[in-house]
Amino acid sequence: MGEQLKIACGVFGAINFQKQPIFSYIYWGLRAQNHRGHQSHGFLTYNNGKIHVHRSLDLVPKLKTNAIQEWFGRLPGHIGIGNVRYTTSGKTDEASLIKGTQPVTASKNGLKLAVSFNGNIVNTFQLKKEISKEFPGFSYECDADLICHKLLIEFAKGKDLASAVETCMQEIQGAFSVAAITKDGKFFAFKDPYGIRPLCAGHSKDHSTYAFSSETVGLNINELERDFELEPGELVTVSKDGFGRKKLVNRRKKAFCAFEFAYFARPDSRFDEKYVYEIREEFGRNLVRENPDVVKDADMILSLPETGDDSALGVHEESGLRWERASRRHRYVTERAFILLNRERYSTIDKKINILAPKIRGKRVIVTDDSIVRGDTTKVIVEKLRKMGAKKVYVFITFPRIIGPCFYGIDMATYGQLIGSKHSPEEITEIIGADAVCYQSIEGLIKATGFNREQLCLACLTGKYPTPLAQKIADEMKKRFMKGYEETGRLYGIAEAVE
Ligand code: SF4
Repeated sequence: MGEQLKIACGVFGAINFQKQPIFSYIYWGLRAQNHRGHQSHGFLTYNNGKIHVHRSLDLVPKLKTNAIQEWFGRLPGHIGIGNVRYTTSGKTDEASLIKGTQPVTASKNGLKLAVSFNGNIVNTFQLKKEISKEFPGFSYECDADLICHKLLIEFAKGKDLASAVETCMQEIQGAFSVAAITKDGKFFAFKDPYGIRPLCAGHSKDHSTYAFSSETVGLNINELERDFELEPGELVTVSKDGFGRKKLVNRRKKAFCAFEFAYFARPDSRFDEKYVYEIREEFGRNLVRENPDVVKDADMILSLPETGDDSALGVHEESGLRWERASRRHRYVTERAFILLNRERYSTIDKKINILAPKIRGKRVIVTDDSIVRGDTTKVIVEKLRKMGAKKVYVFITFPRIIGPCFYGIDMATYGQLIGSKHSPEEITEIIGADAVCYQSIEGLIKATGFNREQLCLACLTGKYPTPLAQKIADEMKKRFMKGYEETGRLYGIAEAVE
C-alpha cells in the first residue's frame, strides 16, 4: 500500500536495424513502466534526420485499434526514445508539467540532440549558470534539459561522444540514467558514475532490435532478451553488430538505490540475477528472523496489496503463520491518495482496499508493508484494523527507517515530512497506535538484495550521501531543521546557498 511516493521517471529507447517502425516498442516499453511516472509521458522518433515528438500529461493512453496507423504516421522512424515522468524538480503547474515532459530536445551550431532521462541533478545552479552563457535566456522545466544542453556544449567544443559524455559524468552531480539520439542518428545510453538509477539493455532474438529500459519489464513486454544492466559510469552505443560498452568513469563506491528493491520497481523486474519479488520475499523471511517474539505472539499475517504481498509470502514461509488474504484491492479504483486531502484518507483507503472484518476480529495480526514515510497512511490502517476488531496490530516494514531526504529522484525532499527523521521506532509505534512497528535492519536489507554495502545507496537510511554536494545540502538542511526552521517546498531552495 505504502504512501504513494513518486519516482522521477522511466526511460525506454530502441532501434531497429531493418528500418522497421519503432513506435510500438516505445509505446509498450513505457506502458510496462508507467509505475515509474504517471504525470506525463512522451514519445520521440527519429526518421531520416527528422525528429517527431508527442508529449502529453497523465498515464500512457490506451490506443484504439483504428487509430494505430495514425500513431505510426505521426511518429515514423526506426529509432525512438520515450519517457514517463513524475516531477521531483521544477514547477508543478499544468503548463510547466507539459513543458517539462520528456523526451527533450535542443540544438546548437547545427547539432541536435534528444534525451530521455531518469534521475535527479543536484548541482543545478552551477549547471544553469554554465549553460546560460552558451544559451542566453536558458530556462528549464526538467533536469533532462540540463543534461541535453550540457552535452551539446561539449559536442560544440569538438569533443567526440565518449569525451562529451565523460565530461558530463565528471561535472554533473546526481543520478542520471539517459537514453539519447543525435541528429545523425547515433543512439546511445549512459549512467552516472554511481549508477543510482537502473537502466538495462536488451535485444530481439533475430538481433534486429536493440533497446534500453529502466526496468527489465520494458524489455519483457516487447519480447526482448535482457543482455546486461549498465555499469555505473558506462557509455553504451549501438550498431548492427550489437552493443559497444565503454566504462568512462570508475568510482570505488557505487550507489544503486536500495529503495528500488523495496518499493519502486515492479516485482517482476530484475536488476541483477534476482527478481525483485524474490528479494521482497527474503525481506519478509528476514523480518521473521529479526522479530521472533512478535511472530510468537501473532495469529496471522495480513498484507496490504500490492507491495506488501511478496514480503508477506516470505513471512508466511519462515514463520508458518497463516497468510490471511482478507485484504483485496478494488481493481478499477485507481485514484491516488496523494491528490486527496488528509481528511479524505480514510475513505480513500476504504475505496481502494477492502479488508474483511470477520477474518481479523479478535486476532493478533501482523501487517506487512514496504515503507513508512510520513506515517499518516500507516496510522490510518492501524486504526482501521483496530476498529474492525483486531486484538493486536504489529507492523512489519521491509524498508528500514527513513531518516533523511532523497536527492536522487525520489519524492522525499525534506526532513520535516519524514516521521523517521524525528522519532525512534518506539515513538513511531506510539504515534501510529500499533503494538509494535518492526523495521527491517539495514544489514538484512543489504543481504537480501545480493548486493554489498559499497554497491548500494542507503543515504536516506544512514545520512551518508554518495555525492558531495548532496551531503553538504543534507547537512545544512538538517542543521536548520534541528533549529526549528520551517522547510518549505523542494530542497533546492537551500542548494543555491551551499553550492
Ligand atoms: S537516498 Fe534513498 S531513495 Fe534516494 S537514491 Fe538513495 S536509497 Fe534511494
